[in-house]
Amino acid sequence: MTIEVWRGDITTLDVDAIVNAANSSLLGGGGVDGAIHRAAGGELIHECRLLGGCKTGEAKITQGYKLPAKFIIHTVGPVWNGGVLGEDALLASCYQRSLEVAVQHRIRSIAFPAISTGIYGFPPERAARIAVQTVTAFLEKNASLERVVLVAFDEPTEGLYRAVLENCHLLELE
Ligand code: ADP
Repeated sequence: MTIEVWRGDITTLDVDAIVNAANSSLLGGGGVDGAIHRAAGGELIHECRLLGGCKTGEAKITQGYKLPAKFIIHTVGPVWNGGVLGEDALLASCYQRSLEVAVQHRIRSIAFPAISTGIYGFPPERAARIAVQTVTAFLEKNASLERVVLVAFDEPTEGLYRAVLENCHLLELE
């Protein structure tokens, strides 16, 4: 199975689950979080209120409501602070925990936004490497996922994902 890269609005994707780069309140925000809440409709916030927030690096699941996706997996990325507060491990944990929650719910296709690279300021290339490494390692041990899409909202992010995936491929050949 290969990781797909796709550029566009994650809320339009017809996959079993999309991942939300949420904040710890899980009560909505800007960026992809705002777009997901708008597209899912007002019922989403009611379910989110019952969840009691989410810690950085953790993930919680809700229904997808009006989205094409059946589920939303809400994860809270780290705010970038120069890399001295464990941001790399916390970002890897976002991908890892989201994939674990997905497998627990028999989800077969899942799409991720570039977690933490917007308002939270994580360096995009570093984030792309962590995303690809964590998803690749997970897929080597879990056969139940059929499709993982890394969604880039802009062209530079798409280019980063493609470059990182190309490098992975070269490393495998060596
Ligand atoms: P964070 O607070 O985790 O940094 P943001 O939502 O600010 O989250 O940004 C995370 C990434 O999501 C950024 O790369 C941003 O360009 C991207 N993004 C914003 N809106 C969408 C969307 N509708 N679909 C996919 N990605 C999006």
